[in-house]
Amino acid sequence: MWMKLIYPRWPRLEEQTPFRLPPHGPITFAAALPEEIDLTFVDETGVDLDTEDRPDVVALSVMLTCQIPRAKSVAAAYRRRGIPVIAGGIAVMIHAEEMAEACDSVFLGEVEGHFRTVLSDLGRGRLARVYDCMDRLPPIEIVGSARRDILDYSLYTYRGIRMLDPVHASRGCRFNCAPCAVAFLGGRHFRPRPIERVVAEIESIDNGRLFLVDNSLAQDPAWARDLFRALIPLRRKWVSHPIESDDEMLALAHEAGCWYVYQAITGVSDTIRQRVRRYKEHGIAVEGTIILGTDDQDVDGVLRLLDFVEELDLDMAEFTVMTPFPHTPYREALEGEGRILHDRWEEYTAGKVVFQPKRMSPAKLQELYETAWERFYAGESQKLKMARLFQKVVERELRDGGPASGAAWKVNELS
Ligand code: SF4
Repeated sequence: MWMKLIYPRWPRLEEQTPFRLPPHGPITFAAALPEEIDLTFVDETGVDLDTEDRPDVVALSVMLTCQIPRAKSVAAAYRRRGIPVIAGGIAVMIHAEEMAEACDSVFLGEVEGHFRTVLSDLGRGRLARVYDCMDRLPPIEIVGSARRDILDYSLYTYRGIRMLDPVHASRGCRFNCAPCAVAFLGGRHFRPRPIERVVAEIESIDNGRLFLVDNSLAQDPAWARDLFRALIPLRRKWVSHPIESDDEMLALAHEAGCWYVYQAITGVSDTIRQRVRRYKEHGIAVEGTIILGTDDQDVDGVLRLLDFVEELDLDMAEFTVMTPFPHTPYREALEGEGRILHDRWEEYTAGKVVFQPKRMSPAKLQELYETAWERFYAGESQKLKMARLFQKVVERELRDGGPASGAAWKVNELS
């Protein structure tokens, strides 16, 4: 059976540097397919999609709300010609009803251990409209290594530099932050993968630089310590979401190859100031992900936040506006107050204001968002800051003698 797996394109934030990372959802899905499936993968964020071919089935892997409109039009193009379309991924769980109407079938949940049933129904021409496995999370032990052989790495190379490969050491999250749908998706369960499987997967990746895409590494300190100790001999360099910021943990994370972390910042706070300082003291760079438009921010509050961000001496910063994604506590609150402006999903990029802010107009928040990007990168461009971040990793790689197992890196790549 020929399956065409498609990752639909979406409108990127104009302000971001235009590099691309391999998408983790499709390669994880591909790993759960039986070997007899003849798989073609198209990452539409990097290549034009031909919808005139005739695969036996199209599988759509959809991660973001702003991919939903494009996913629906790709589904329509194939279904018009009688080709069945199945959709899955985080955004499909979040937009299940809408996607079930647009496709022949939707798969909700984590695919491992469940997809043979779908394929067998497909073979008999009896696809169910919905396969709801959200309450039947697979045992984490059966999650295998992602299928990176389906990727065209030329798409994930920017100015001659191979970008990071995504890999995950855990699923789920035990927290329930207001703007986040992870609690809806995974029921607030933190599920670490067996560390030996994570190590085996990393050893198989031909890249010295990785992105640990776990929701947060600050979930279980004992597990995080074990993970970091196991990563030390691999000598890879990696990026992640936050880590528990005590000195012992950060020293271990650095030794394990932590290169930089993403740190969410929603307001002026001593906790964040100290956390950023501690990361840096341990040789870990910080990219701030700054969210504008929280209910406690008026115009002066946003301007104070921008001053604070400058003070922090972040290595990079990404600004977004609060966005009421479906199935988040934040959206629920805004709906109750009638503050959602519209549901045009293609504008839910976190770069456009789609709600009524509490203390300013939507237009003012949009203007402040643009000011934030301009101000942060006024002294030094984003490309230059990114080059400095890479310079740091190259220097460390040189000191460390490169990754342990022949993974690719080039010291002259910034020249
Ligand atoms: S924002 Fe991060 S820490 Fe908070 S619930 Fe979502 S994944 Fe968990």
